[in-house]
Amino acid sequence: MNKNITGFLLTIFLMWSHSSWTQNAEKVSINYCVDPTWAPYESIENNQHIGISKQYLDIFQKKSSLSFNLIISTDWNQALEFTKEGKCQLLPMLNQSSERDEFLVFSDVYFRAPNALYGHYDQTMVGNLSSITTQSVAVVFDYRMHHYLKKTFPMMNIIAVKNENEGLKKVENQEIDYFVGSYYASNKIIQDLSLSKLRIVGIAELEDNLRIGINKQSEYLLPYLNKAIAELTEQDHQKVFSYFKAMSFIKTTDHTITIGLAIFFSGVIIVLLIGYSRSIRYSKTLASKNKLLKELHAKLDEKNTQLSELAIKDPLTQLYNRVHLAEMINQQIKLKNRYNTRSCLVMIDIDDFKKINDKLGHKIGDDILIKLSSVLTKCARNSDIVARWGGEEFVLLCPETEIDEAIQLAKRFQVALGTIKNDSFPHVTCSIGIAELHSKDSADDWFISADNAMYQAKNQGKNSISTLEGDNKNNQTFEEPLNE
Ligand code: GH3
Ligand code: MG
Ligand code: MG
Repeated sequence: MNKNITGFLLTIFLMWSHSSWTQNAEKVSINYCVDPTWAPYESIENNQHIGISKQYLDIFQKKSSLSFNLIISTDWNQALEFTKEGKCQLLPMLNQSSERDEFLVFSDVYFRAPNALYGHYDQTMVGNLSSITTQSVAVVFDYRMHHYLKKTFPMMNIIAVKNENEGLKKVENQEIDYFVGSYYASNKIIQDLSLSKLRIVGIAELEDNLRIGINKQSEYLLPYLNKAIAELTEQDHQKVFSYFKAMSFIKTTDHTITIGLAIFFSGVIIVLLIGYSRSIRYSKTLASKNKLLKELHAKLDEKNTQLSELAIKDPLTQLYNRVHLAEMINQQIKLKNRYNTRSCLVMIDIDDFKKINDKLGHKIGDDILIKLSSVLTKCARNSDIVARWGGEEFVLLCPETEIDEAIQLAKRFQVALGTIKNDSFPHVTCSIGIAELHSKDSADDWFISADNAMYQAKNQGKNSISTLEGDNKNNQTFEEPLNE
């Protein structure tokens, strides 16, 4: 029979039976699947469904004209597959997500649960997810928390694990710094496996909002399930609460923290079960506080970036300063020693800049320095470091560059410089010295070679390029002097 017609007939039957279920009307049997290994939320033991979702299904069964029939699955993925195929009509307890919206419709939330951050007892408290910087964080693969972390903290060192057991064990063995996951499920595992070296080190802001997920073909069940959810009483929630009340909290060496956390989380559980409205208001305040905190973090990051930029940039030209250049030179020397890479240092000194200043004033002198910097940056490659050494002297550090390529670059720069002359700018020329880094060169050796080459270019009559490379024929005055 066509599924739509089946749905329609069942709806009619449900409407009729719902009004009379108290008189023991025959119930409609619904096939459902669960995650077989997600204790204490739900699991399968001896082919029986147990856990929090079972407690709620029993209540729903009493309050509606539905009866629930478990279809056993080997793991969560199979439970999802069975529900996609229609073999199971619903999954009683899961978070809503856009991927799941493709094949499921979701009931209202009927159970909320916090997520927590677990660490080895040697770890300090971190408070929340945004405080984690370089440490590794385990999370169950493809869980909603996994997608949330990837999206919200793209720089985080996230390690996807198969299940909570694996993640918690790896933290216990100090292979991974933290595990983030469901508070109730993790506590159960910690207790069952006696993972005594773990403790809660923070709270993860993402809360589990658990609902019933109904296969779209069985969508007609939704209003009946939502009605049963709406009719849940305080006693119903208390009954479920008593189911896992016996759970003990994590044993740690630091009893003050444990007791504090136990009291805190007991408080959270009671608040969650007693008043959803209060918890929703609380979540909203928390969300807005988190938002504020995130904005402050972003501003702080921006200021920090600005500060570190200031420390390594020349304020007039915005080129790197000599502090950063020195660091980059040292880095190149290390690379040379390790990989024998070839790199060149290009020293540039403006010719007769004093005269230009004297004639046109310091302000125009500054404008020339700025313009020249932008021309030099355009001629250089992205991987080159363009720096102002001081005054009217500039240095170009060219990694992975042979001397002939550096000479070509210097020539290109001299030609480009010739084109910036206009009414307010005089023609500016430069003397350029180039030195290739040789093995065993220190930073000083390399710099002095480039500086000596530059002085040789000055002595050759300025506006020229020199390399000082043995009998290298590149010691030359620039072939087409641009002086008028
Ligand atoms: P040479 O061709 O031998 O290099 O001669 P020069 O005049 O360029 O060199 P000298 O070292 O004699 O003079 C450098 C001048 O650069 C002196 C100084 O006024 C000028 N200068 C240094 N820093 C700045 C700056 O930030 N702005 C301006 N406008 N001028 C500067
Ligand atoms: Mg100079
Ligand atoms: Mg000069």
